[in-house]
Amino acid sequence: MNIATRDPIYRETMRIAGKAVATDEVVEVLNPYNNQVVGTVPSARPEHVREAFAKARAFKPKLTRYERQQILMRTAEILRDRREEFARLITAESGLCWKDSLYEASRAYDVWSFAGQLSIRDDGETFSCDISPNGKQRKIFTQRMPLMGVISAITPFNHPLNMVSHKLAPAIATNNRLVLKPTELTPLTALKLADVLYEAGLPPEMLSVVTGNPASMGDSMITDPDADLITFTGSVRVGKHIASIAGYKRFVLELGGNDPLIVMEDADLDKAAELAVQGATKNSGQRCTAVKRILVVESVADEFSELVLAKAKKLKCGDPMDPTVDVGTVIHEGAAKSFERRVNDAVAAGARLLHGNNRTGALYPPTVVDHIPYDAELVREETFGPVIPIIRVPDDIDQVIRISNATAFGLSSGVCTNRFDYITRFINELDVGTVNIWEVPGYRIEMSPFGGIKDSGNGYKEGVWEAMKSFTNVRTFSMPWG
Ligand code: NAD
Repeated sequence: MNIATRDPIYRETMRIAGKAVATDEVVEVLNPYNNQVVGTVPSARPEHVREAFAKARAFKPKLTRYERQQILMRTAEILRDRREEFARLITAESGLCWKDSLYEASRAYDVWSFAGQLSIRDDGETFSCDISPNGKQRKIFTQRMPLMGVISAITPFNHPLNMVSHKLAPAIATNNRLVLKPTELTPLTALKLADVLYEAGLPPEMLSVVTGNPASMGDSMITDPDADLITFTGSVRVGKHIASIAGYKRFVLELGGNDPLIVMEDADLDKAAELAVQGATKNSGQRCTAVKRILVVESVADEFSELVLAKAKKLKCGDPMDPTVDVGTVIHEGAAKSFERRVNDAVAAGARLLHGNNRTGALYPPTVVDHIPYDAELVREETFGPVIPIIRVPDDIDQVIRISNATAFGLSSGVCTNRFDYITRFINELDVGTVNIWEVPGYRIEMSPFGGIKDSGNGYKEGVWEAMKSFTNVRTFSMPWG
């Protein structure tokens, strides 16, 4: 089935405080598989962003916890009921395969459902003051307040629904107002989600969606006087730009990764190879936590490499709408070409290409490369595609940890070993936000804390509950007690 020829072209508007706003200039959204136009979105000018923030700021949300829970749970239910409709749009605008898009829609259900369940939880603390000679007969209590200003949310292309959900759901759960700028590459899913929220009963002033070219309106999302906090998921380059111009505003940065999957000599190699291939290729390898470096110790590397190759060859790459396909396209042809070049450069520097690297447009198949030098651009930079890169490392845990940490990034990691002495060392010594033993680096639930250090993030965590905390101010109040 070809989506672009079957579905109408979406001529979208922005949603500013619920009102449809169009502009003369538009941005085209292309289907990466066939280059057909899936839709168009308005190209906002800075004054549209200003209007969105001003309208949001002027509105004071008064939803009770019960009302917020109702809206969030209703949104979850609508997403569950329209899972296939959302998956079709995600696949059309991103080229992610049908299996990945369906999975994404079900993850988004979890985000909304968890936010609904957590919105009724009050984590206020109580401090008795008569606990030292300096104390008094008083108690101090804490309570979370929504931000005074507006949340500015900026999202990437690789999870057009789930990344947006991770910003919106915790913000609504805490009675905040937001202006969202989804990526210009996959904005249609975000607009569709906004409509679901309005349908579920969200006061429209609480959410605006502006679209367009970041070169002309991106900075307005960062410097607007009513933006209190910027929550950003995307590349290190843009993240650092935000940090440099945000000034006296809070910012939560969830940036790129270069995550290792570490395979030690005692590992069940078949299981490790399965994690390596899945972790490097799911979502077309376009996950911040995709496996981007497989560090396998020399003594088992030959056997491991053969297992990886056999599994990679079984993956089907092709028409993203074909339900049997495992790997759809990457985001555009330019990205696919850059992977091809990086692989060729690595091969010129001594790596061995075992499979793939034969591109058709934006279709870039799972590509197995072994014996990659540590300093090859392919593994030194974040390669955001389905490359399965094997780096052979010495049979020495000190060296494995050193090599793993020798990257600018620090998002997540996966470790394949059963040795408890190794496990505790990896957990303590890998410079990352997450260590998953016998899982891919990307494993998480939508509620657990998530986020990186070093160039991967500024230490704030996402995950529904952590985001609810970072989107609130803690107020203490005290009173005489006894
Ligand atoms: P990107 O940085 O190119 O774009 C992200 C967003 O920033 C888009 O909405 C874009 O329009 C916007 N933007 C660009 N320039 C801007 C400016 N000057 N001002 C304001 N906004 C601007 O990232 P991408 O290519 O869409 O996404 C892929 C990257 O995201 C990868 O590096 C990936 O690892 C990372 N990512 C990180 C996480 C995480 O949780 N750590 C999750 C998903 C993706």
